[in-house]
Amino acid sequence: MPSSSGRVTKSKYRLLTHLGYGEELKHPVRENDKTYSKQDAAQADNQLMKAKPDKHAPSIMAVGAHADDIELQAGGTLEKYFRHGYEVVYVMSTNNMSGSFSSLDSDGSIITRQEPTTEMMARRKLECANAAREWNTEAIHLDYPQRHYRNEKLEVVTLKYGAPVPPTPAAGVPSILTAGEDPGAVERVVTLILEKNPECIFTHTVATHNPEHFGTALLVTNAYWNAWERGYRGGLLYWVDDETRYGPAFRRFETYVDYSPLLDRKMELSGKHDCQMPHWRDPGFGHRLVALEWGKVCGCLAAETFIWCNRPVHTEGHNPPAYGSLTLELYQNGR
Ligand SMILES: [Zn+2]
Repeated sequence: MPSSSGRVTKSKYRLLTHLGYGEELKHPVRENDKTYSKQDAAQADNQLMKAKPDKHAPSIMAVGAHADDIELQAGGTLEKYFRHGYEVVYVMSTNNMSGSFSSLDSDGSIITRQEPTTEMMARRKLECANAAREWNTEAIHLDYPQRHYRNEKLEVVTLKYGAPVPPTPAAGVPSILTAGEDPGAVERVVTLILEKNPECIFTHTVATHNPEHFGTALLVTNAYWNAWERGYRGGLLYWVDDETRYGPAFRRFETYVDYSPLLDRKMELSGKHDCQMPHWRDPGFGHRLVALEWGKVCGCLAAETFIWCNRPVHTEGHNPPAYGSLTLELYQNGR
């Protein structure tokens, strides 16, 4: 995230509860109270590890705007199906040049500091590399500039007419806000989709508070339909944004993935982006509360929720169609 606006803090969670998103949000599941014991979790995890990997080593592609978006929005899903034998294709749409970094003070409070663009970018890409390595893969950086950056004086410079160009992009590179309308930028993503042939692609939703998330959704969606015209038949799903101020319409979902045994693991993966959330181990960490909230809504301990843009068609001459286990779960959990 370029700023703290999209982070789910304790206060934002309280706001979310205050806005009255149903009883389940007023009484979030407390892990200790749940009949879902640690033993159940370990057993389910064990079964998952023993599950037979799918024959054709299928893949899942996740496209996030900012370092940490993938882990926070689909980290449980990716971890679950990585353990199921899926290859993970990890794609970053922006160059991660904006924002601040945080660390924990000795008393546990969070200290936030700033640094110039080039250092920020290096820091966040290093964290991305560490996170992607957990799934035996490397982050693919599309590197479209964010809408602002910090200069050497640590002032925020917003990309607009007459503003100094940030130090990194080459001439003619669109920012992430218009990359979805740039034929070259779209074609890069089409090529990636056709090459990796993912069973499903996960990315940001168009119903989002953050224009860089929205820009990423447009880029991926345009590329998706281009790839579809050329024979690609995987699915495209949008993950549900954590922002609450636009009302319940922004929180609607059509299907989910239950990753209950992997809740701690998802927090650990999110914690690879320590400079954005040094408090990820905190039991009251906002994203942990959100995971539990969605779990309660979906009838499990922890879930990630999605909206279909388009469902996959994997017939391959089989009748009934030969869907992969990820697609089967998404269909079974449809509502
Ligand atoms: Zn983000």
